[in-house]
Amino acid sequence: MTDNCIFCKIIAGEIPSAKVYEDEKMLVFKDIEPKAKVHLLAVPKVHFKLLSEMDEKKAEILSHMFTKIPGIAKENGCKNGYRLVINQGDDAGQTVFHLHVHILGGESLPISIV
Ligand code: 5GP
Ligand code: ZN
Repeated sequence: MTDNCIFCKIIAGEIPSAKVYEDEKMLVFKDIEPKAKVHLLAVPKVHFKLLSEMDEKKAEILSHMFTKIPGIAKENGCKNGYRLVINQGDDAGQTVFHLHVHILGGESLPISIV
């Protein structure tokens, strides 16, 4: 738990969230300002900000997350595909500095820049 991290507070239950999945390594909850019909945030329970801070242990957690995400996306209304986004740092517009994977779907999404 890192002080003043909003996602650590959500993980600790200090700030409410609409949880859709939880296990010992990760939490998935609805984004408070959804940018698509389905907009979920998947977060590791350990705090780190950037992929560049990853070590082998954190890599295992991310591997676990990416194993779980397809099923979670499908169960939450992403029947015809979904988009995953990980904003890294200021140029990408990251606003919450606890690594998170956006899961976007539930509708045909606007074309992204990639
Ligand atoms: P970023 O811009 O860092 O990639 O994404 C942060 C995301 O967290 C944004 O989409 C924003 O709407 C979401 N968010 C920020 N504060 C909260 C909160 O307190 N609860 C939830 N559920 N989502 C939040
Ligand atoms: Zn955190």
